Amino acid sequence: MSRAFIIAANWKMNKGPHEAEVFFEEFLKGTERFENYLFFISDINLHVAQKYLPQNNIGWGAQNIYFEEEGAFTGETSAKALSEFGATHVLIGHSERRQIFNESDEWVSQKVKVAQQFALTPVICVGETWPERQAGETQKIIIKQLKASLQRADLSQKIIVAYEPVWAIGTGQVASVEQAVEAHKTLRQALNQLKPDLGEITSILYGGSVKPENAKELSDPKDIDGFLVGGASLSPQGLAGIYDNSSF
Ligand code: PEP
Repeated sequence: MSRAFIIAANWKMNKGPHEAEVFFEEFLKGTERFENYLFFISDINLHVAQKYLPQNNIGWGAQNIYFEEEGAFTGETSAKALSEFGATHVLIGHSERRQIFNESDEWVSQKVKVAQQFALTPVICVGETWPERQAGETQKIIIKQLKASLQRADLSQKIIVAYEPVWAIGTGQVASVEQAVEAHKTLRQALNQLKPDLGEITSILYGGSVKPENAKELSDPKDIDGFLVGGASLSPQGLAGIYDNSSF
């Protein structure tokens, strides 16, 4: 069964609206093959995504939402507002949210639920820390995170999963192809346990220090369906280079 190959950019808390405009002007000139890209950019730049991306059929959205529909939650963004604004996707449970903002699997599952209620496709991040990998707990941790994150999900709707070993994010220390494939197979099996064939139809992305130089070997295995890219997505050349070097 074929799954979509996706290259998702996570700009994190980088760029202001002007830099975002400059990026999209250059990026959109450089390629005509847009359907594989997704952009997760900070809320202050979402109007720039709204201006440039829908007419090119590029998916886009926020890097986080709150799980309540509306109310007294100062500083938060709702799935309802994000969807009304035109976003198509939302990043949920990134390790920086889990670690810096103490986001739990319970919260992640509530965010997945509300995203789906408002027709946003959730990109759900899971991944182990270095001490967890060293303790031989990688498989256990990522299965637990995945299942807990999906406990309220409507599995008949599309989801995307990103395997992001925490130790590989922003460190330059990329997972080996074997490590990535093993984790992706584990996640696919866990998805199949939740619903028959769910693992076969769900794109599972790898994230963690992906660059144009390592995109080919990481995209070769059939279990790796694309990338979630931080640092290298900040330049049009970096992102397009990953696309150009990927085999899919
Ligand atoms: C990320 O932020 O999800 C990420 C994978 O970052 P980087 O590509 O910089 O490691």
